[in-house]
Amino acid sequence: MIQRGMNFRLRNKASVVLMSVRRGAPYADRVEENGRVLIYEGHDMPRRDPSTRPKEMDQPMHDRGKLSQNGLFFEAAEMFKRGEAQAELVKVYEKIRSGIWTYNGYFRLVDAWQESAGTRKVFKFRLVVVEGSAESKAGNEDDKHPRMIPTLVKVEVWKRDKGRCTKCGNQQDLHFDHVIPYSKGGSSLLAANVQLLCAKCNIAKTDRIE
Ligand SMILES: [Zn+2]
Repeated sequence: MIQRGMNFRLRNKASVVLMSVRRGAPYADRVEENGRVLIYEGHDMPRRDPSTRPKEMDQPMHDRGKLSQNGLFFEAAEMFKRGEAQAELVKVYEKIRSGIWTYNGYFRLVDAWQESAGTRKVFKFRLVVVEGSAESKAGNEDDKHPRMIPTLVKVEVWKRDKGRCTKCGNQQDLHFDHVIPYSKGGSSLLAANVQLLCAKCNIAKTDRIE
C-alpha cells in the first residue's frame, strides 16, 4: 500500500489519492452529490524538522524548487480548464476505519483552487466519479443512482458484517459488494443492498451473474 496521500501519475500510471472523511482525519475531504463528487483537500508542507508547524503554514504549491503534489494536481486541473488536456484520471482510496482502506473507483480532476482555512491557505480539488469505473462494468449515467457507496453506508455495513466476508468469514481482501448488482438497478445508498465479500467470494459471485 502506498504511504503518501497524494500521488500524481504514480510510476507513470494513473494518479492516486487517499481520502478520509472520518472525524479526526488530517485533512478536510468531503463527499457531495450522493458520492459523485469528492472535494479533496491538498496536503501540508512535509515536516522536515521539529520547529516547523505544517498546520500553521500555507499548503505549498512548490517544494524544494519543484511543483509539490498540490502543484502537480493544480496544474493538471488548470490545463483541463484551459482545454489543453483531458481531465486527469485519479484513483481514489478511502480510509473508513483505522487500517481499513477501500477502493472508491476512478475520478476525473475537473477543478482546483486555493481557499482560506483559518489563518492559512489550503488547496481544494474537485473530483467527479467516473460512473461504472470500479469493479462493475456497468455504465449507468443516472445522477440519482450513484455507483459509489457513501462512507456512512460503508461504515454501517462494516459494523453489521463485523469486518468479515458474509459468505466465508474471511477477514482479508474485503470488498463492498452490491447484493443486487449496480448494473441491475441495485442501490448503493442502502446498507441492506451492500455486503462485505472477500475477493474470492466476490469473483465467484461475478462469475455466477455474468
Ligand atoms: Zn469469502
